[in-house]
Amino acid sequence: MLFRQLFDNESSTYTYLVADPDAGEGLLIDPVVEHVPQYTQLIDELGLRLVAALDTHVHADHVTGLGGLRDETNCATIMGEHSRAECVSLKVKEGERVRIGDIALDVWYTPGHTDDSYSFLLPDRVFTGDTLLIRGTGRTDFQNGDALAQYNSLFGKLLTLPEDTLVFPAHDYRGMTVSTIGEERRFNPRLQVSSAAEYAELMNGLKLSNPRLMDIAVPANLACGRRSALSGQAGQAAA
Ligand code: FE
Repeated sequence: MLFRQLFDNESSTYTYLVADPDAGEGLLIDPVVEHVPQYTQLIDELGLRLVAALDTHVHADHVTGLGGLRDETNCATIMGEHSRAECVSLKVKEGERVRIGDIALDVWYTPGHTDDSYSFLLPDRVFTGDTLLIRGTGRTDFQNGDALAQYNSLFGKLLTLPEDTLVFPAHDYRGMTVSTIGEERRFNPRLQVSSAAEYAELMNGLKLSNPRLMDIAVPANLACGRRSALSGQAGQAAA
């Protein structure tokens, strides 16, 4: 497997390239619109064909590269079945797999940060979106976020993975690039709770300000980040 972790400075977003070099097929996870030319150049240089791009959820802090990548490469665009982004070409559900050459990613529905948050698993690693961050968890105070649902996604699903499973989140704001399930279980301050109610109290007391790009990013991302959507809907209130 060929694997790259790419970074967007503006929103501290990680984008992942997962590829099967023998099949010449690649997948991008959580691409950012401003970097579409960089992604397509890298994929060309590596001798790959982009077959799919997916978003773990509708992001509120950056505009997705899904639409731009589809325009450039004709790749499939994928989100989970709970997504309200009608522009994607394929919606996947829990229990299904996303296949790239010989690589198969298991689809897990992990709501809580948003009600359309999904995680994607390989045998040795998991792409957690904003459900599980490194020493943190994604906020649950907008986009139908739900702290109790997130508790269940964390404790009922992600934390049941083997301790040495690598954790690759959608963001990190302090330069941490990767963790493991065992490390997060021990050292993530949000996970040191004894009940769902305690977790909900912690999350509901955070009082965070809204992301700077939220009013632009959410409506744009419901249209896969296409340029036409950016100008047309930029003033619309975020969901
Ligand atoms: Fe998010």
